[in-house]
This record gives sequence, structure tokens and C-alpha cells, in this order.
Amino acid sequence: MKLLNRSRFFVSKTGVLFAGIVLGLTANNAVAQEKDPYLAGFEAYAKEVRSYTDSLYKAVNSYVADAERTEKSVGYIGRVLPIPKAQKVTDGVYTVVGSMIWHNPANFGLNNNLSFIVFEDGVFVFNAGANPALAYSLHQQIKQVTSKPVKWVAVENNQGHAYLGASYWVDVGVKNLYSSQLANDQFDAAFDMIKAEWGTRVGKELTLHARNVSDKFTTFENELAIDVGGGEKVILKDFGPGHTPASTSAYIPSRKVILTGDLGFNERMPVFFSYTDSFAWEASFKRMMDEIPADTIVVPGHGTPTDMQTAKKQMYDYLVYMHKEVQKVVDAGGKMEDAVQVDQSMYKDRPVFQQAATNNAEHIYIEITGGDF
Ligand SMILES: [Zn+2]
Repeated sequence: MKLLNRSRFFVSKTGVLFAGIVLGLTANNAVAQEKDPYLAGFEAYAKEVRSYTDSLYKAVNSYVADAERTEKSVGYIGRVLPIPKAQKVTDGVYTVVGSMIWHNPANFGLNNNLSFIVFEDGVFVFNAGANPALAYSLHQQIKQVTSKPVKWVAVENNQGHAYLGASYWVDVGVKNLYSSQLANDQFDAAFDMIKAEWGTRVGKELTLHARNVSDKFTTFENELAIDVGGGEKVILKDFGPGHTPASTSAYIPSRKVILTGDLGFNERMPVFFSYTDSFAWEASFKRMMDEIPADTIVVPGHGTPTDMQTAKKQMYDYLVYMHKEVQKVVDAGGKMEDAVQVDQSMYKDRPVFQQAATNNAEHIYIEITGGDF
């Protein structure tokens, strides 16, 4: 059984990718329209009492409107999720390392890294989180580290765990949100499906309040430098496609750190989806290594912070090895069944090895031979 579902995307004539059917699960679009059960309960109560007393009906309804407004102004009302503690990467740079497996109710959708950097003028958050509950929980950790406000939020790509928490940050007053143009278009086009899928897989109650705020994002192509005060800047940069068609990294030269987003996987096996271009991924990673000094600390999209040499070994070297070995199989006239026999045993201790290894070999075989995913 394949535990990793593949999203189906197709390319329209304009070159913009639109989500087709998201994942193996049936997308339930109704989820996006579902109401907060707490408020829905009061609304039902208001309707019930209407036949007896109109004034109580009005009073209950105005309470619902009030509660709804309050909820929106604070972003999320609920418990703080027991997520891992943010670890200090370097001066003022922190990251919460997410679970190394797929998103599920036990990790609340936190299976990527959520990072924040404290600057003179405020806090820069990288990745909005998989839902408002997670964004809120991260925010509580930020408040333990600094009293400075969150001023900037950027997302690594169009995936649910990068984006769905964005409405929380908008609700608590963050005005500067950043995404690449392509990722923002993709997220906007597929919002209902992405929300339904993450709600189903992770927990509807956590995801319920996520709204599509893609219109609040400042978008860019290739690169954008953001002045964050104190003479420092955050450089958002798309080194090229790979795991996802659009992929943003955040480089902070003054702290000698790069948050690669899904360009980099540490520990966890790199996973390929149908929209993954593994050859472009290799080239994009190379471009990153060519441009970023070798002594830069790497906070990957998945896995613990590390140095550039380890990041290269865990990500780039894996791609290079697999490309070379599967190419050998193809050159020898081998079939897909032969490609999956490529020896990956040296990676067997990496999390999700079982779910990713065969799929990755098949994926590269199809990329080389030009078949359909
Ligand atoms: Zn990811």
C-alpha cells in the first residue's frame, strides 16, 4: 500500500498550474463552508426560540455576531497545541522542527519546519503553519522569546503546511506577507481542496478557521529583498523548481543562515509528488550552493538545522546518486521494476524510507523515459 498520496496537477495553456483532484481522498468541498460548531450551536438555538420570543432570538444572534468578530480579531480561540519547543539555530533565529512523517492528527499538520527570526524592528516568520491553531501555538512560543511584534510572514510554497495558517497572521495584524507569484496563484486556485484535504487528514476543528488570504500577499518572481531594520535584510529567493514548481528560500546574510524551504530535506527521505521535477531540483540545489557561502547554516524544509555540507549530502547527493543509477537502468534497457531495485539501502534509516524509496525510483524512471505519472 502506498501511504503517500500523489496530488494530480495539470498545466493549463497559460502555464499556470491548477490543482486537479487533490490526493487520493475525495475532496469534500463542504468543509470549506462549515461553520464553527460553537457558533452554529447558538445559531440553532436562536432559531428554536424564535417562535416563542423574538427578543431572545435577536439577543442570541447578536451574541453570535459578537463572538464571530472577537474570534476573527484574535485569529484563533482554542488550546495551545503541544508542539515541540522552538530550538535556537543561531543568534535570534529559531525553528520548530516538525514531525518527520506525513501530516496526521498526532502532529496537527506540523510535519515541516516553522521558523522565526528576531530583528530590530520585529519578528519574521517563515511558513504560516498548516492551520490557524498551529500558527497560534507558534505565536505563543515567539512571545516567550521576544516582546517584539510579528511584522513579516513568508511561505515556502503552495502546500497546506506552508500556507493554511496565513489567515491567523492576517487576523492578528500582520501586514507584510510574502509568497512567490506562482505559489500564490496555485494556492488561491486550489484553496478549497487544500483546506478540505488538510482538514480531513489533520483535524477539521483546527483547520476550520483557515481563510483564503492570498489577496493579502505581496508576490514576487525570483527574488525579493526585505529591509527588516538594523541594517539587516531577508532575501527571499526561488532557486528554481524541484519538490514543488515554486519554492522560496529565505537567506539572511547577516546571520549566516538560509531557510531553504523544501529545496532541502535533512534526515527525512526526500519525497516526490507527481508535480515534483527531480532533475530541476538537483539543478536548483546546485544553484543555491553556488550562490550561498559554504559556511552558511541551513534550516531545511524538513529535518533539523544543519551545515551546508550535510544538507548537500542528504539532499543533493541523494538526487545525483538516484539520477545516475536509474539512468544506468534505462540505458541497459531496463524496466520500471528494475529501476526500483536500485540500491537505496544506505538510506534505510531515514524517516519515511519505506514510503518514499520505491516511489522515488519509479518517479525518476518516468521522468527519464517520458511516461505519465
Ligand atoms: Zn513540505
